[in-house]
Amino acid sequence: MRTISKADKLNSVSYEVRGPVLEEAERMIARGEDILRLNIGNPAAFGFTTPEAIRREITDHLMRAEGYSDSKGLLSAREAVVRYCKKKGIPNVGVGDVYTGNGVSELTSMCMQGFVNSGDEILVPAPDYPLWTAAVTVAGGKAVHYICDEQSEWNPDMEDMKRKITGRTKGIVVINPNNPTGALYPDEILQQIVDLARQHDLVIFADEIYDRLLMDGRKHTSIASLAPDLLVITFNGLSKSHFICGFRCGWMSLSGDKSHASGFIEGINILSSMRLCSNVPAQLVIEPALAATEETDRQLLPGGRLYEQRETIYQALNDIPGVSAVKPKAGLYIFPKLDVKRFNITDDERFVLDFLHEEHILVVRGKGFNWIEPDHFRIVYLPHAKDLERAAQKLGNFLAGYRQK
Ligand code: PLP
Repeated sequence: MRTISKADKLNSVSYEVRGPVLEEAERMIARGEDILRLNIGNPAAFGFTTPEAIRREITDHLMRAEGYSDSKGLLSAREAVVRYCKKKGIPNVGVGDVYTGNGVSELTSMCMQGFVNSGDEILVPAPDYPLWTAAVTVAGGKAVHYICDEQSEWNPDMEDMKRKITGRTKGIVVINPNNPTGALYPDEILQQIVDLARQHDLVIFADEIYDRLLMDGRKHTSIASLAPDLLVITFNGLSKSHFICGFRCGWMSLSGDKSHASGFIEGINILSSMRLCSNVPAQLVIEPALAATEETDRQLLPGGRLYEQRETIYQALNDIPGVSAVKPKAGLYIFPKLDVKRFNITDDERFVLDFLHEEHILVVRGKGFNWIEPDHFRIVYLPHAKDLERAAQKLGNFLAGYRQK
């Protein structure tokens, strides 16, 4: 019989957050071993529950959600997104410019399929949320990574970004607040990105799914609000801000100057129609969710779970000799650095596997986020502070005797 292989276009695609190390962890779990999973940003798995307003909306109105909706989504959901865009200063967004999706994930792939031709280059951050690199690659494009600088609070290195622009560059992905670093970009950086995009005629893809998970009284600026004359596609959703990853609820908005983008919009409309519509029960909760953010807000203030867990993991990691981490300003993740000389680390996959086998804790290696060196890994700080503290203690014990062979 003929061998059944994956399609060639998938040969250089990976998504390590759910990759081979997770498979090893699952084998261990199947053998009855207990694993602390610090690999996926899934709040519900750590006892964050659906806010009451959303629960009520779903149970009261589920019967309204039996049919397909318009392929872009329910009008009420898109109107709510338009209001949210107005609040964030995102210009020129009407209901026709909003598309709901089965999570931001679906819309990311849809956009790249509709935008990228073979060999087109898209600037993507390193480290990135790897879905972006994967989506560009599957679409036949080339993800060109610009460096984010740990010495500068993980902000994009603007000189590096400039150097990476070529005649084939068509777009730039900005993930702000950032996964995996927890960075929140200042307006000056966002403005410089807009200026570059303007100068080189680039479309901006702004992933802002963590914009309601800010700490320390910080404010988020949507990059689209600084670019009324450019096409900006802003992605957002409720997975993280309302602890409902499983609902698969996201959206994107097209803002700014769309006069030159009718072809692209036609392509997106075709792709949107091909999936008929996104999950309708999830669309129903967009309107109430965007009006009710108190439950999440509470978690982000001193005394709230997310805030305290960030404080705990940040402090505990920085107390370990040979480990350092920049304090996250937003989101659910921290991206610590390992002193690779001290531990002789040359292979970060080996490191996370050794840690998993020895301490039964699952983290994701830095290269899984398209980071260049084997010197980082990502921790999700969703578990309770006492569990994070214990995990950091185990990491410290593990590293105290670790020299990679
Ligand atoms: N964008 C970023 C930066 C993420 O971290 C995630 C999930 O972790 C997503 C998008 C996808 O979110 P969803 O598909 O659940 O909306």
